[in-house]
Amino acid sequence: MQHIIDRFISYVTIDTESDPNSQTTPSTAKQWDLANKLVEELKNIGMQDVTIDDKAYIMATLPSNVEHTVPTIGFISHFDTSPDFSGANVKPQIIPNYDGKDIVLNAEQNIILSPSYFKDLLQYKGQTLITTDGTTLLGADDKAGITEIVSAMEFLIKNPDIKHGKIRVGFTPDEEIGRGANHFDVDKFGAEWAYTMDGSQIGELEYENFNAAGAKITFKGKSVHPGYAKGKMINSMLIANEFINELPKGETPQETKGYEGFFHVHHLTGSIEETVLELIIRDHSAKRFERRKKLIERITRKINHKFAKKFGEPIVIAEINDQYYNMKEKVLPVKHIVDIAEKAMRELDIKPLIKPIRGGTDGSQLSYKGLPCPNIFAGGHNFHGKYEYVPVESMQKATDVIVKIVELTAIPGIFDAPTKPTKKK
Ligand SMILES: [Zn+2]
Repeated sequence: MQHIIDRFISYVTIDTESDPNSQTTPSTAKQWDLANKLVEELKNIGMQDVTIDDKAYIMATLPSNVEHTVPTIGFISHFDTSPDFSGANVKPQIIPNYDGKDIVLNAEQNIILSPSYFKDLLQYKGQTLITTDGTTLLGADDKAGITEIVSAMEFLIKNPDIKHGKIRVGFTPDEEIGRGANHFDVDKFGAEWAYTMDGSQIGELEYENFNAAGAKITFKGKSVHPGYAKGKMINSMLIANEFINELPKGETPQETKGYEGFFHVHHLTGSIEETVLELIIRDHSAKRFERRKKLIERITRKINHKFAKKFGEPIVIAEINDQYYNMKEKVLPVKHIVDIAEKAMRELDIKPLIKPIRGGTDGSQLSYKGLPCPNIFAGGHNFHGKYEYVPVESMQKATDVIVKIVELTAIPGIFDAPTKPTKKK
């Protein structure tokens, strides 16, 4: 396990924070520091066709070691970290044989990682945890994923008796700012399907995510001296308020879970003359997603109708843009790619936790680009903040899952077995 710890630490101590305000790819030059190191490392462990393009997308190949035809599969992670919290000067702390009690991340600033608040910690009693020192994020999202993929490839190279088809590996920049898949060359990657190693706790296996849209709604007002305003003033802020009140009650992020969709008002700025409201729409069901967008249009029409006589022109303008879609649509037709990951986990005594992602993933964009791409746990918890931690045992298990998937995929006839239970006559 020590080499997993060493590898992980060699990655997280390199700052790779991405920047949503940058227009370049990668969004920050410092991401090259880790990217270049990864290229060297992939070559050193014996990977072939190791390439990095001018946008820092890395690809590499582990050639097949069997005669028969096996589908080419891939494993993908991102090497940037979230701009939500500092990723500079990460000083990881190693907690061997975790005793289930509070972990002092930073005595000076009294920053405690406590199982009374973060209950998930208790399932890792007795394991080795890697935490922050309370001043930065850790970067297990997603350097744990990279650690696991590199370690699995190294293991397969050192153990050629394990039979496998051609394996492709892909590392991307800028996932945290939603651009990880933007410049990913699916044709060049050339895999039939892939897995992002970018989930959280051990066992996670995800192939459903939200359908997503963003809406910008502009309200036009009319400013008149308040003393002479009767019947003349239109206060755009109050119209925006009216609009928000028309949204269904209880359908906000803070009141929903599982497969429940929502409207999320995330920005509101205004004056009497003009108010701009920004909201996002999320739903796993494509049908309900469309209905939610229609509702925004309906409320817009309703308010415009009400003010039509007084104002002459529409005072509410709604712009709705789709952001990403549920990958389930692309994965279900090839459901065996989920089944094989599930089988790999069960064979390793890992309980698969299959649940819908309440967000997006690079895998969804990749799936729509023609590379079906479910998401597998990378092992970390509390991403994007100072309480982030990862159990080393979970990274080891994720590494084992990669090896097992590769192994299973190469078994002749494995995909011929029916995926649905056959009906008894
Ligand atoms: Zn991630």
